[in-house]
Amino acid sequence: MKAPYLGDRFTVPKILIVGGGYAGFYTAWKLEKWLRSGEAEVTVVDPLPYMTYQPFLPEVAAGSIEPRHAVVGIRRHLKKTRVLAAKVTKVDHEAKTATISPVAGEPWEESYDIIVVTAGAVSRTFPIPGVADEAIGLKTIEEATAIRDRILTNFDKAALLPPGPERDRLLTVVVVGGGFAGIEVFAELRSFVSALVETYPEIDFEDTHFHLIEAMGRIMPEVSLPTSLWVIKNLAERGAQIHLDTQLKSAVGGVIELSTGESFESDTIIWTAGVMATPDIKHYGLPIEERGRLRVRADLRVEGDDGIVEGAWGAGDVAAVPDLTGGGVGGFCVPNAQHAVRQGKLLAKNIVAELRGEGVKDYFHKNMGAVAGLGIGVGVFQSGKLAIKGLPAWFAHRGYHGLAMPSWERKLRVIWGWVNNFFLGRDNVSLEARVHPRRAFEEFAARPRAAAVEAPAAAPAPAPAAEPVAVGAASVATSATAGAQNPQLPGSHSSEPAATAEVNGVAASDTAPEAPKAKATKPRTRTTKAAAPSGE
Ligand SMILES: Cc1cc2nc3c(=O)[nH]c(=O)nc-3n(C[C@H](O)[C@H](O)[C@H](O)COP(=O)(O)OP(=O)(O)OC[C@H]3O[C@@H](n4cnc5c(N)ncnc54)[C@H](O)[C@@H]3O)c2cc1C
Repeated sequence: MKAPYLGDRFTVPKILIVGGGYAGFYTAWKLEKWLRSGEAEVTVVDPLPYMTYQPFLPEVAAGSIEPRHAVVGIRRHLKKTRVLAAKVTKVDHEAKTATISPVAGEPWEESYDIIVVTAGAVSRTFPIPGVADEAIGLKTIEEATAIRDRILTNFDKAALLPPGPERDRLLTVVVVGGGFAGIEVFAELRSFVSALVETYPEIDFEDTHFHLIEAMGRIMPEVSLPTSLWVIKNLAERGAQIHLDTQLKSAVGGVIELSTGESFESDTIIWTAGVMATPDIKHYGLPIEERGRLRVRADLRVEGDDGIVEGAWGAGDVAAVPDLTGGGVGGFCVPNAQHAVRQGKLLAKNIVAELRGEGVKDYFHKNMGAVAGLGIGVGVFQSGKLAIKGLPAWFAHRGYHGLAMPSWERKLRVIWGWVNNFFLGRDNVSLEARVHPRRAFEEFAARPRAAAVEAPAAAPAPAPAAEPVAVGAASVATSATAGAQNPQLPGSHSSEPAATAEVNGVAASDTAPEAPKAKATKPRTRTTKAAAPSGE
C-alpha cells in the first residue's frame, strides 16, 4: 500500500477547489460526505455564491423558471466547507500557493496541499465586428435573466410604435450557433414570444421574427441527422428560420449581415457558438493542451510532459479529460453537465483514496443520450438510435432535469414553479429597471440645501425654505452630481438577478405548443394582418 499523501506539512491537508460550479460543487459535496472528521480541510473559491444549473438557462430566458430557482446556493448546501467569494487569479504550484482575489478587499496568498481546478468555461467568440458590443452570451443566470427582460421590454416599446424598421428591430431575435444550447434557447424563446403576443393586442404573431445562424450544414450534432431535421421542420412550422451554412459577418449597431448577403436588424442577439476553458488557468502554471484546457489523466490528476503533477487535479469543462469509452470528440469528454457531475464525484472519491493511500480510479462514463426542451410541449430525446420527439420528449426533458437538479430543496422549487405556471401562467413582466434600482428614490430624495450665497449687507435676507424652485434646482444639481459620482447602488450591478427572481411563469395556454388564438375581440391598432403559419 502506498504511503498516504499528506501534503508538505504535518497538518491537516488543505484542499483548495477553484470554482464552485457543477464539478467543483459536486467535488466539495462528496468530500464533505466521504472525508472523516479532521482528515482534510476543504475550501471552495468562486466569485459567485451559487452554482448555476446551466441546462435551465433557456427556460429562465423564456420565463418558465425563476432565476433564483435555477441556481444552488453554495453555503446553504456545503455546510462543512470554507467558502470564499473570490477568484483564483494565479497559482504557484511549486510553492503550493494560490492568489485569492476577493470580490471585496485586497488579494492574498493562500497555501494548499491539493488544488482542484474546476473553473469551467466561458463563451468563445470570434472577432466579428459588433459581436462584443451588441451580443449577449448564455452561460450565466444574469445573461438569461437579461434576455428575458429585454424581450419583455422590447414588446412594451414595440407596442407603442407604428410598423417600420424600429419596431421590426425590437421584435427580431437572433441566435448565433445551432448547438444544443443555441437551439434550446431559440425554441424556448419562440414559445415564450408566441405566448406573449396573446397579451399584446398591438402586436401580431407575424410581427415577430426569429433567425438562427449556423455555420455548419446541420444543427445539434448530439442528435441524429433525422432528429435534427425534424427540429428544423418543427421550428419552421412555428415561424422560426434557421440559416444553415451561414456565417455572421457583422453585427455592428445591431445590423446583422450574413455571409449569404442577407441583412436585417435585431435588438436581441444571443451568442451560443461554443465555449472555451476559463482563460484564468493560463496563470496557474499547470500543463495546458493546445485548446487551452487543463491536461488531465483519466483519473483526473493533472499531467505534464514529465508525468503526474503531484497534488493537482482537474475536471469539468476546464479540463481535457480522456474519454475512455471512445465516444468523445478528439478522444476527450465533451463539455457537458453529465460529465462534470460524474467527474466531480469521482474526483472526490479519488482524493479521499489518495489521502488514505488507496488506489485511484479512471473516469469512465457512457453517454446516456441527449434530451432537449424546445418550448412548452415540444422536445427531443436521442439515445443511440432511439429518438423520441414532441410531447413525450418534452416530459422526458422536464422529468430528467427536474430530478437532476442538486438537492431536494432545489428540485421542489423548480418543479413547483412548473406546476404553478401550468395553472397561473408566465409572469410576463419586465424588471429591466432593476439595473437602476435607485433611480426613483434618487429622483425625489430630499437633500441638504446648497450653502446660501451670502447676500449684500443692505439686502433683506430671503425667508428660509420659502423658495421651492431654488430648493428644487439645488436638489437637481446635487442629484446630478451624486448620480455622476455614484451611478449605481453600492453592491448592485447590472447583472443582479435578485429582483428579477420575482417574475416568472408559463401561460396556462402554453400547455399546448404555442398556437396563437384568434384575437378578434382585442382592440387593434393596425389593420393589416397576415395568416399565422401552422403550428403557432
Ligand atoms: C445554455 C446551456 C445549456 C446546457 N444544457 C446542458 C444539458 O442539457 N445537458 C448537459 O449535460 N450539459 C448542458 N450544458 C453544459 C453544462 O452546463 C456544463 O458542461 C457544466 O456546467 C460544466 O460544469 P463545470 O463545473 O465544468 O463548469 P461551471 O458549471 O461553469 O462552473 C465553473 C465555476 O467556476 C467559477 N470560476 C471561473 N473562474 C474562476 C476563478 N478564476 N476562480 C474561481 N472560480 C472561478 C465560475 O464562477 C463557475 O461557478 C449546458 C450549458 C449551457 C450554457
